[in-house]
Amino acid sequence: MTTEIIKTNICIVGAGPAGATTSIMLAKMGIAHVIVDAADFPRDKTCGDCLDLKVVRILNEIDPLIVTNELSQQQYFAASAGMRFILPNGKHVELIPEQNSTNKTVAKPIFYVSKRSNFDNLLVEKIDNNYADLRLATRVEKIEREGGGWRLYTVNNSKKIEIETRMVVGADGDHSVVLKHLQQRKVDRNNYAAALRQYWKVVDGMHKENLIEIYFPASLPFSYFWIFPLPNGEANVGYGMASYYAAKKNINIRKAFAELIKHDAYLAPRFKNAQPLESTKGWGIPMAGCKRKAYGNGWLLVGDAASVVSPTSGEGIGTGMFSGFIAAHFLQRSVQQNKYDEKMFTAYQREIHKRLKQEELLYRFANALPASIFSAGINALLSNRFIQKWCTEKEMKRWIHTAYNEPVQVNLNA
Ligand SMILES: Cc1cc2nc3c(=O)[nH]c(=O)nc-3n(C[C@H](O)[C@H](O)[C@H](O)COP(=O)(O)OP(=O)(O)OC[C@H]3O[C@@H](n4cnc5c(N)ncnc54)[C@H](O)[C@@H]3O)c2cc1C
Repeated sequence: MTTEIIKTNICIVGAGPAGATTSIMLAKMGIAHVIVDAADFPRDKTCGDCLDLKVVRILNEIDPLIVTNELSQQQYFAASAGMRFILPNGKHVELIPEQNSTNKTVAKPIFYVSKRSNFDNLLVEKIDNNYADLRLATRVEKIEREGGGWRLYTVNNSKKIEIETRMVVGADGDHSVVLKHLQQRKVDRNNYAAALRQYWKVVDGMHKENLIEIYFPASLPFSYFWIFPLPNGEANVGYGMASYYAAKKNINIRKAFAELIKHDAYLAPRFKNAQPLESTKGWGIPMAGCKRKAYGNGWLLVGDAASVVSPTSGEGIGTGMFSGFIAAHFLQRSVQQNKYDEKMFTAYQREIHKRLKQEELLYRFANALPASIFSAGINALLSNRFIQKWCTEKEMKRWIHTAYNEPVQVNLNA
């Protein structure tokens, strides 16, 4: 059997949101590269499927028409007007940003919910084959340091492909082969969550404006249950818990999830006539607080491989796309100067974490609290009328403004 050899300056491993964004941005900069993914697309990814305004902001950097023409018009994207929280004390709180939709300004959704098979495929279709040599169904099995660069051993069905590259970008998710090769894949339970998802049909009591729903069960602190509305009467239903707490209390989250749906006073009536569309699917969430080193000589990490999920919300699609966007700017300078050593990337870590600082702090603070105070804190914070008003009248409107109007600045200097 012959082995195909590909030579390149940059090889991206993984074409999920983080890898695809890196590739799309490199192509916009006119930089040739290779991008490989073990899966053929469309492919599923275990996720809550909720696209936040960070996603919208990066899509607007790529091409604003994606949001206005594709997300808002494709039948597999549900536009959501806001959030509904169900607090540990049973109270319901709805946060919907006030928007001016009377003077011909189209109200802007605060979230979109789309199955990842559809959203990730939409992104992969934006990869520009004038600059990107995209190899799907191609799994990287082994990585070796060779000279000043790397040799990646990949398999596509029974065909072997070896990629010689100066730079490798690990965009291959939480179980990253790049991370394993760099001997950096250690699960830090204090900054990791266990989560699972199950698609359902006809869950009762969904909001007519597609509010995403977050339920904090009183008996299970440091966790939340979600119901995110999808088109066609379907919903992404799931549950996640901080890993350190699940381990400390020996909680099996699959069992906890099933029990909540069957017996919880708030959830059970809503699921009485609903139908599950699949078995539960679990996966880990590597959160930003662990500050994993994300760069080195000839390598960068993006997305889950870099552990950049927002620790307060569990959202990693937007933060992953942000890291890909930022990585492309550092790679552009490397290509221009023909230098791929660690010194070129020292400011990369700062640039990906500077937008996550507040969330990292809040998560550390909240998780240091005793369980009872954690639940009381959520009750007090989210029932507070001043905070609700501030969120809906100021904060959420500011997020929307930023996502549509403010370019993302990347500072390459250390
Ligand atoms: C249950 C759950 C719910 C979540 N809910 C949300 C949510 O609602 N909103 C949100 O924003 N985030 C959510 N997240 C987090 C989000 O799913 C991730 O942060 C996001 O997918 C990260 O994107 P990525 O591109 O880094 O990695 P991935 O999406 O994991 O993509 C990695 C890609 O690498 C490929 N790959 C892997 N190994 C190899 C290899 N050896 N060779 C070649 N290719 C390889 C894979 O096929 C895959 O396509 C959730 C996570 C979980 C587990």
